[in-house]
Amino acid sequence: MRIVLLGPPASGKGTQGRRLAASLGLGYLSTGALLRENIEESTPLGLTAEPILARGGYLPDDLMCPILADWLGKNDSGKGWVLDGFPRSLPQAEFLDGWLSQNGAALDAAVALEAPFDELLRRTRERVECPGCRWTGQRRELSEGGLCRKCGKPAAPRDDDDEENFRNRHAEFTALTVPVIDFYRTTHRLIPVTATGTKEETAATILSSLGFKI
Ligand SMILES: [Zn+2]
Repeated sequence: MRIVLLGPPASGKGTQGRRLAASLGLGYLSTGALLRENIEESTPLGLTAEPILARGGYLPDDLMCPILADWLGKNDSGKGWVLDGFPRSLPQAEFLDGWLSQNGAALDAAVALEAPFDELLRRTRERVECPGCRWTGQRRELSEGGLCRKCGKPAAPRDDDDEENFRNRHAEFTALTVPVIDFYRTTHRLIPVTATGTKEETAATILSSLGFKI
């Protein structure tokens, strides 16, 4: 199965993307995590991406599309994949369809997580990430002393999680990614999923919406 996961910032794409890929035995790409790794390693891509991501912007299509083509070239051969963070714009969605049709493949579903703005803002204010194992979640999920329950390292708010950054990313989502959601709706590939419940509830809804018995 080839699935793209769409949704506004703080809608749980990363968590749900990893879970979905693990549940179905699929490959998984988070473009956000890939870019953050490049920033930490100060690669040429990281140096380009850092100032854009720091203000909550999206990377331009002519930068993202080759990154995707490279990843798909290496990872499209298995059982399929879940993409988190791509496509973020209509040209990226068209690029993905083009790449797949050139390779005799097609996208199976576009899962769009939906949550109201105020709920997303509240989550943003509470979100932390573990530098050790890359777990992300809410502050209240940490063990005593603010430590990661998986690996014991101290978790901290993500650098890009301040409120202004969230508002910028949400505005970019509305301007650039909502048209992508409309595109998948009109081409009958969209699966909207309410993402206001617990992680477990949302994960179960995604699987059942894709036609899997849970
Ligand atoms: Zn950890």
